[in-house]
Amino acid sequence: MSADRDCIFCKIIAGELPSQIVDEDELTVAFMDINPATRGHALVVPRRHSRNLLEVGSEDLQATVLGAQRLARRATERLGADGVNLLTSSGSAAWQTVFHFHLHVIPRYEGDPLRLPWTPSPGDPDEIAAAAEQLR
Ligand code: AMP
Ligand code: ZN
Repeated sequence: MSADRDCIFCKIIAGELPSQIVDEDELTVAFMDINPATRGHALVVPRRHSRNLLEVGSEDLQATVLGAQRLARRATERLGADGVNLLTSSGSAAWQTVFHFHLHVIPRYEGDPLRLPWTPSPGDPDEIAAAAEQLR
């Protein structure tokens, strides 16, 4: 597995930095986030280093999503979570701070303090259509 010697998640995977590992398989490791958004907040990462969603290979992406589903189910069954958010940030403009692809698994509890980071409001239909055209 390729590793980036300056990457803290590669160091966690290699056992060179302490972590609370909660799940692992051939391709992924999951460990607790040291700055939890809610109780049980964990990160699932491929063992193989890639920078983010734009770079991760499909096999690692699949394995990471499946790992996130395992943890989401455990958060529900064992921690009593009422819901779960998955989050991945690609690029510093999107808040990425650790540049090793990861999925946040954030258990949600009725009445917890987390809020959507945007205020939903209707967009201009022409502009939505123009963006859609660029994405097709
Ligand atoms: P992001 O900002 O999406 O790149 O997420 C990086 C996450 O890694 C943040 O939520 C940090 O709290 C978390 N984090 C940073 N260092 C560690 C560490 N040594 N062990 C566990 N989580 C970490
Ligand atoms: Zn890495």
